[in-house]
Amino acid sequence: MMAQMEYLPLRNMNTIREELGKAIAEYQANESRPLSDRIKALQKELQLAISEGAKDCPKCGNHPIGLRHVVGVGRTGEWYHTYEIGCCGIKAKASTPPEDSGADLAQHDEAARAKAVAKWNVL
Ligand SMILES: [Zn+2]
Repeated sequence: MMAQMEYLPLRNMNTIREELGKAIAEYQANESRPLSDRIKALQKELQLAISEGAKDCPKCGNHPIGLRHVVGVGRTGEWYHTYEIGCCGIKAKASTPPEDSGADLAQHDEAARAKAVAKWNVL
């Protein structure tokens, strides 16, 4: 994995996700190389923001990446987000409590992210 040499202050993951959503919508309306590059840069920034505070990988020494999965729960229609910190096939995960709609999830996101990072840090 390519290391990011220059560490800039990390922005909030929800701010990055919002920008990423806009960039993807723009790209779908009008594909271009600069927009494609911007999407890749935002995706990388988002992975770093999610893994903020995580220790380097115990196996290879690289900084782990962070992912968010949006999960729907079958019949009840409840939704939750799972945060995953991982590298070299090692993963630490934590989820938000299930909610009836996506609207209430954001308030639990940072706590779930921090929990996943804390789990990773004791691996
Ligand atoms: Zn690794």
